[in-house]
Amino acid sequence: MPTYAYRAVDPGKSCDRCRQGFETIQRITEPALIKCPHCKNPISRLLFAPAVVIKGSPMSETDRKIKEYEKEGKWSHAAELADKEAEKTKREDLKVRALEDYKKAGYDFDKYET
Ligand SMILES: [Zn+2]
Repeated sequence: MPTYAYRAVDPGKSCDRCRQGFETIQRITEPALIKCPHCKNPISRLLFAPAVVIKGSPMSETDRKIKEYEKEGKWSHAAELADKEAEKTKREDLKVRALEDYKKAGYDFDKYET
């Protein structure tokens, strides 16, 4: 089951627990918590767990473009785009994808290591 992180919407009126943010394990089908279980003040869900982000976010324009390049076998194009987007969005899945695409493009990272 995925871990979700929550944080107080208004840190001014919340308990220590939700002001700093807390994590809780929930089923993916369970609705998001809207109130802190301790102080009952509103909280919002933070999406930082990679597995949750991938499943929860719709495919972006960039994702589509990368996929298109991959379909056409333009691995270096796909890799560069994924690399740039990974830098920008800090998405781990894109970083991994960029590496894979670089490999398919013929770059061999092991070779350059000294
Ligand atoms: Zn609280």
